[in-house]
Parts: sequence; C-alpha cells; structure tokens
Amino acid sequence: MSVDAALEQLKKVFGYAEFRHAQKEIVDTLIQGEDCLVLMPTGGGKSLCYQIPALVRSGTAVVVSPLIALMQDQVEALQQLGVSVGFLNSTQDHEQRWQVTNQLTSGELKLLYLSPERLLMPETLELLGQVDVSLFAIDEAHCVSQWGHDFRKEYQQLDCLPTIFPNIPRVALTATADQRVRKEISVQLQLENAQHFVHSFDRPNISYHVVDANDARQQLWRFLSTQHPNDAGIVYCLSRNRTEQIADYLNEKGRTALVYHAGMTDEARNTNQRRFLLEDGIVMVATIAFGMGIDKPDVRFVAHMNLPKNLEAYYQETGRAGRDGLPATAWMAYSLKDVMTLNTFVEESDAGQQHKLLMQHKLRTMLGWCELTTCRRVALLKYFDEEMPQSCGNCDNCLAPPEVIDSTENARRALSCVYRTGQRYGVSYLVEVLRGSTADSRVKQNGHDRLELFGTGDAISAREWRDLFRQLIASGYLVMDEEGHGGLRMDESCRPVLRGEVEILQRRPRKTAKPEKKGGKLLIDESDQPLFEALRSLRTRLAKEAGIPPYVVFPDTTLIALATHKPTEYQSLTSITGIGQTKQERYGEAFIGVIRQFIQ
Ligand code: ADP
Ligand code: ZN
Repeated sequence: MSVDAALEQLKKVFGYAEFRHAQKEIVDTLIQGEDCLVLMPTGGGKSLCYQIPALVRSGTAVVVSPLIALMQDQVEALQQLGVSVGFLNSTQDHEQRWQVTNQLTSGELKLLYLSPERLLMPETLELLGQVDVSLFAIDEAHCVSQWGHDFRKEYQQLDCLPTIFPNIPRVALTATADQRVRKEISVQLQLENAQHFVHSFDRPNISYHVVDANDARQQLWRFLSTQHPNDAGIVYCLSRNRTEQIADYLNEKGRTALVYHAGMTDEARNTNQRRFLLEDGIVMVATIAFGMGIDKPDVRFVAHMNLPKNLEAYYQETGRAGRDGLPATAWMAYSLKDVMTLNTFVEESDAGQQHKLLMQHKLRTMLGWCELTTCRRVALLKYFDEEMPQSCGNCDNCLAPPEVIDSTENARRALSCVYRTGQRYGVSYLVEVLRGSTADSRVKQNGHDRLELFGTGDAISAREWRDLFRQLIASGYLVMDEEGHGGLRMDESCRPVLRGEVEILQRRPRKTAKPEKKGGKLLIDESDQPLFEALRSLRTRLAKEAGIPPYVVFPDTTLIALATHKPTEYQSLTSITGIGQTKQERYGEAFIGVIRQFIQ
C-alpha cells in the first residue's frame, strides 16, 4: 500500500511515470523505517530516493547537504514542484531562520535541508528532538571519507544520529565509485547493517574521447564547433593562467566562456557560477576547484585540456556531464608534458613516500587508460571492479578502432637508446639520436652521434617515435625522473621487451580522422527542432522572470517530450515526463499555447 502512495507522489509531484533502477526498493525500505546506503552514479536519481519517502512518511525529513549552493538548488527545485521545504544555513538572517524554525515546529515542512555543522549544533539537535522527524538523508556521503577529495570532518560526527534518534531511518547517498571510500562510509556512519543498494557505475550516455595534444587549443575548438556548437559544458585546465587564456580564446571565437579558479574572489566565482546555471550554452573554463555542487543536468560536455591526476578524478569530473541522461561527451587532450607536470605536483606535495608512490602509480594507470586501443568504458569500469560483458560502442576506440601495428623491434631500439645514452635524457633528445639529428648540440658534445644506433630510426617520423615513447612510459617500461625534467630511465620490467619476449603493439594515430558531423548530435528529430527551439525560448523567458535556472522550469527531457508528442490539451500534459501537478498549473497553459501556434 505504501508503495502505491509512493508511486502516486512520483506521478503527482514529479510527473514521472515509473521508478528507475532500485529507486522503488530504496523508497520502500525507507518508508518501512529501515536504514539504507545508496551507491548510484551521478544522474542515477538519488534525490528521489529520499524525497518520495519524505512526502509519504509523516513528519519532516532532515537532509544533510555539504554545500550551500547545492542546498539552495534542491530547495528551489522542490519549491517549483509545490513541495513545502526549507533550509537553515549561515546565509540567512535571524528573521529568516526564525521563520523556518516556526514552520518546522508547526509541522508544515516535508523536508528541511541543513549543513552538517548546523545539524550538529546543540540547539538544532534539541529542536529536532521536539518535532516529528520522518528520516535523515545524508547526501554526498563520501564527504565522511578522509581518502576522498571532499573530506568534511563534521560528516564523521554524524555517527551520533542513531544514538540520539534511535528509531528514525537513515539513508546515506553517494556517487563515489571508489571501493575504499564506500567501505569507509558504511563503517563511519554505522550503516554496516543497513541495506546496501549498489547500482552500476556505468554512464552509458557519456561518450569517451581521447586525443593526443599537438595543438590542444585548436583541437578543443574543433571539438566544440563540430560537436557542441551551442551547448553548455566545462573545460578543465591545470592552471589558473591557462583557464584565462582558453576562455579568452573561446570568447574571441564567439562563444560565451567564463572562468572559475581558486585565485578569484568568492564574489567573482559565485557570479560566474550563477551565470553558468542561469544562462544557456555557457562554457565554464575551470580548474578542478569547480564542480562539486553543480547540479546542472544539461552539461553536454566535459573537456580536459590535460591529463587528470588519476582515474577516480577523471570519472568524477566527466560525471558532471549528462546528468539528465541525454547524450554527452567526455573529451580529453593529453601529452607527456602533463605527466611531467603531475609528477612534479606529486613530488612537491607533502605526502609521505608511500603515498607518493601510490599517486605515481595512479597517474601511470591514468596514462595507460589514455593509450588504450580497446573499449574505454570496459577499462574504466573494470578499474572500479565492475565487469562489462561487451564493448560499449560509444567511445572513440569502439566507434573508430585505431590501427594497431607491431612495434616490438622499434620498442627495443627505443629502450636501447635510453640505455646507451645513460638513462637521463628526455623524449625529444632520444628521438633526435634515433633519427640521426644533431640539432640539439648536446648530441655531439656527448658523442652520441657516434653510437651504433644513431640515425637508425630515421625512417620513422618524430611524431611516431614520441607516440611509442609515450606508450612505453604508460606501460611502465620506462620511468620519468621524479624531478619533472622528463629524463627517462628503464624499469626492471623492460627486460623481457629487450629480449624480444614481449610483443609491443602500437596504436597508430589515425591519419584521416572520420569527418565529424557539423552541428553535433541532435537530441530530437530534425523536423521537431523548430518547435523545440520555440519551447526553449519560452522556458528561458519564464526562468528569467522567476530568477531560476531554465532547467528548474523544465528539464530538456520534458521539452523533448513536448516537442515530440505536441500535446494541445491542458489535460494531456499529465502524460508528459516531468510535468507534475504544480508545474502543470504554473506553466501548462503557456507551453500549450506555443504548441498550438506551431501546429496551425
Ligand atoms: P543524482 O542526484 O543521482 O545525480 P538526480 O536525483 O539529480 O540524480 O536525478 C537525475 C535526473 O533524473 C533528474 O533530472 C531527475 O529528475 C531525473 N529522474 C530521477 N528519477 C527519475 C524517474 N524515476 N523517472 C524520470 N526521471 C527521473
Ligand atoms: Zn567502448
């Protein structure tokens, strides 16, 4: 019976026809008053897992959220759905807080959002002790982990909840794919005996693409202009300077690009973040400081201008694309220089020796992933201990399999060159020697022009030699010096290669890249595109009037459904995904109006 009530709320409030994945079981468990731990990728639909039980159970659900921006977005979205919801945080004045407290004690609120600090204040705990709390939801639960990137020490103190509120169900939710972090959440938050719901971490709508950088800026432009000419997205760079340069470049090209990095004032950062959310089609050029707390569902691409420091970070950063489930792209340009830069970061960090080794290992794994010739999704998921039965058909290697050539002989020559020159020179120098060039004056000075292998590799282009060196580094046969000068030495593991016992297959750069379709992927039938655009303009106008992001009025999925089914009667709007009762009343007539006009 309770599940029927849940389904009813799903339909009436959110306008969705059915639960997705394990949502139904999770909702059910909470409604019955039991704890759970929910591990689901970004965009999987975690919020509904506690919002529906909050609506069905009596009392107020307390939601712990780590960031004020996140909290405000969620509250805004729920208010638009006609849900009675409030938050308490430091941005409010006394009067506002008093008002929310009043609503809470009079039992008006279905949900209350709090930061962990606020929840743990004695006065808040006392207040909650006096009201009927329906459940505790701990969002972004990975913040409890010291291993994660968003550690918040207050999260660890949330283990007091089951003691203070013994009979109130708790749910912790996270999109982290890291096994160690998951385990820590379960232990720290005392959820070992709770029901665990682990969903696949695959993000099938994200298409993975990796290119080696020769002119990364221009490669980025080509990607943007052909694949995402009007879409919103994020471009990640390693340094502040670089974000500014790239943003200037994109603005010159006619895109609206904003920057976001740790060197800006809070105010400037907030302004840019707000614009990214409120306006359509903005490109945010950012350092990794940007991202957490971005709930924008229609980020259509995430581009990396450099190699991320490990696969965990890469998964998390690219995961910000395509939350709405519509097609999105993760694109990366990387080079060996990134490995040098990142190596230096590791060396200069104040981590212990063991931790540094681990970080270097993870960096190498990241590089290895870039060098893959097989399905990227299979490898990415495998890294997180998930088996995928077959190739995805939606990554660069699946879509256009790279040419693979036998480079065993060349690899041996490259390794000998490292050895003969004393295991201290970088790739450029080594390529000079192999190709018989003395342009670098040190070659002559060192007498390396008299080596037997000098010039024996001149039939192979410098580019191809560099690719091969990069691959040997990615496979761990060669190791870069830790000081960041790029000098290479041999790893123990390269012996079998030298002896010719291991086959080295090299990925050959595709000479004729497949022509990319102009205009990028269309989300709907071409014939419905004009109506979609008209609906989008209406949405932009309504959002502006209300001072909320366009996707809070309706997500793209709803606009697509409207443009495809073209309902012309107010009543038939209820069958459109994402249109619940309140939104129907608030916006229904206006959208029907545009559709009617179009049909005539
Ligand atoms: P997460 O918090 O896991 O990243 P969200 O809760 O933001 O994901 O959900 C992602 C998107 O999917 C949102 O736009 C949400 O409204 C939508 N969604 C969630 N559950 C359903 C469902 N059962 N049917 C249709 N859309 C859903
Ligand atoms: Zn694939």
